[in-house]
Amino acid sequence: MDLKDIPHSAGKTFLEKYAGGGSLSARQSIIAKCCDCMGYHVDGRIDCKLNRCPLYPFMPYREGEKMKRKGPRVLSEDHKKKLVEGRRKKGQVRG
Ligand code: SF4
Repeated sequence: MDLKDIPHSAGKTFLEKYAGGGSLSARQSIIAKCCDCMGYHVDGRIDCKLNRCPLYPFMPYREGEKMKRKGPRVLSEDHKKKLVEGRRKKGQVRG
């Protein structure tokens, strides 16, 4: 099936972006993978109900309770210093 024949969905958008050489976030990759796995949603945007799949908690059309983003991450000053030091060692932070 050609991508242009696939019904519109977020998964299709991300599949097209990836096929065109773009990069995807982890969340976008999951949405794209679920679109691929569900036959490009030609039967509709439905829950796969395959709770044994490791991606199921993030499945975009999952029914019931959704995975919720936790609140903002609060870091202690000591933790921030360690993060900066670790990135400095990897050359990701200048100075
Ligand atoms: S969560 Fe469901 S649709 Fe997504 S990859 Fe797993 S089995 Fe496929």
